[in-house]
Amino acid sequence: MPDMPVLDRILFSPEQIKARVEELGREISADYRGKQPLFVGILRGSIMFYADLLREISVDCTMDFMCLSSYTGTNSTGEVRTMLDLRESIKGRHVVIVEDIVDTGLTLDYLMGNLKNRGAASIEICCLLDKPANRKVEVTPKYVGFQIENEFVIGYGLDYNELYRNLPYIGVFKK
Ligand code: 5GP
Repeated sequence: MPDMPVLDRILFSPEQIKARVEELGREISADYRGKQPLFVGILRGSIMFYADLLREISVDCTMDFMCLSSYTGTNSTGEVRTMLDLRESIKGRHVVIVEDIVDTGLTLDYLMGNLKNRGAASIEICCLLDKPANRKVEVTPKYVGFQIENEFVIGYGLDYNELYRNLPYIGVFKK
């Protein structure tokens, strides 16, 4: 067992993550054959997942990124803002949003609203982790790596105060 002062326990090992990401890559590749999808990575949490997933995509595709930030003021309104927008138009494109985790759903709800009027041929969500117990608005990701309990997780791109994104596994943060 490695030294893990900030972790309660490991949820998914690098091997488990790799196996699941390979499965997702195969499934998405089959669904998007001939469609040249555009994969939109949501910075920064999805970076590891995005880089690994895209290497498992066997159809022609393009990449773009958005950076969103949740504004959590004193009243924690769940307001989301676009810090970095897409470089390319999504008009007529088959878009796959790649996100690290869906929790309340507020981030993706905002994003879907933001992208809806840009003329995409289709928009689907692929998230590595899904915490359905904590949903505040309805968001239904088509591709989900793992469903998890309502616990705060870190590693493989996910942070606590910007730390621990570099961990190769996903673990439950020690309170
Ligand atoms: P939502 O808007 O669905 O509540 O949350 C989306 C964002 O909150 C995620 O993209 C992620 O940045 C952050 N988040 C939600 N749950 C967790 C968690 O368990 N661990 C970490 N590190 N971030 C989380």
